[in-house]
Amino acid sequence: GMPPVPPPPLAKRRASRQIMVGSVPVGGGAPVSVQSMTTTLTADVNATLQQIAELTAAGCQIVRVAVPSQDDVEALPAIAKKSKIPVIADIHFQPKYVFAAIDAGCAAVRVNPGNIRQFDDKVKEIAKAASDAGVPIRIGVNAGSLDKRLLSKYGKATAEALVESALWECSLFEEHGFRDIKISVKHNDPVVMIRAYRQLAEQCDYPLHLGVTEAGPAFQGTIKSAVAFGALLAEGIGDTIRVSLSAPPVEEIKVGTAILESLGLRERGLEIVSCPSCGRAQVDVYKLAEEVTAGLEGLPVPLRVAVMGCVVNGPGEAREADLGVASGNGKGQIFVKGQVIKTVPEGQIVETLIEEALRLAEEMGAE
Ligand code: SF4
Repeated sequence: GMPPVPPPPLAKRRASRQIMVGSVPVGGGAPVSVQSMTTTLTADVNATLQQIAELTAAGCQIVRVAVPSQDDVEALPAIAKKSKIPVIADIHFQPKYVFAAIDAGCAAVRVNPGNIRQFDDKVKEIAKAASDAGVPIRIGVNAGSLDKRLLSKYGKATAEALVESALWECSLFEEHGFRDIKISVKHNDPVVMIRAYRQLAEQCDYPLHLGVTEAGPAFQGTIKSAVAFGALLAEGIGDTIRVSLSAPPVEEIKVGTAILESLGLRERGLEIVSCPSCGRAQVDVYKLAEEVTAGLEGLPVPLRVAVMGCVVNGPGEAREADLGVASGNGKGQIFVKGQVIKTVPEGQIVETLIEEALRLAEEMGAE
């Protein structure tokens, strides 16, 4: 069959300098990468590596680990060595951990200017160590830990305050010729967050890491992230994304990947096009869509499968998809590449769709 033709992009990507987070390019026209953060105790090397392996299998390209204690620092060499994806050390409060993370082979270090009090006199040394090791730094400003000086200047964590904080911190590194930087300015309110990233995008050429912080439980966090990232990415802003959910990190990867796929920034994987159902439906569309989705989960091919409840839009959508069903009168017309290949009783719709999907996937070269 014809490979799916991606739609033209909504906007030209913002021009940014490129940094390398280990083997993953960020910015400078590189594909937008998806990252997450482990929830294990970093000091527990096995549990952390196990979670990193799960994240990697789910499509995570960069992983961040929190480094709050000396025990965590000591775990970094083993984690950085055995992880199949680049590891970023997330460091607050302790400049000496930054040096240790660089020595440990971490691909990047994230620092939060608002939290590193003793930071200022250490910038020169950090810039030198990072530069010698080829390790980029993420300047990660969070609304919740904004520099006190800026908090009193602006009254609260406004977009302007977040941006000023980030750029000020960058300038400390720039004074030492260090520009191997990416920036995040996170806020829990997508409106403030979108404003902050827009301003940042205009005022510098560093690659940007998008995030809505404390986005919330899965449903709310998914909506907030999709809306905020969607608005920015549609304008060409954003080089790497992290969805924050109060849910297992693999869920963050699924949501992040789906956001990129929705915007045509990533080749679509499996896509289920199912109707919302209505009074005309002659089959339980929700159940059908759920069963088909479950049956095809993880199929590594860009396949569009239409699940339609009746014959009004059913045949049209089913024809546009690689594979589909239009239901009616206790039966389902099965479409493959626009042709009705058979009509099966309702009870066989799911198994027939799965069977045909696997056959198409094999034709498309999946193992
Ligand atoms: Fe309703 Fe049919 Fe459209 Fe589904 S395909 S929403 S059942 S009209």
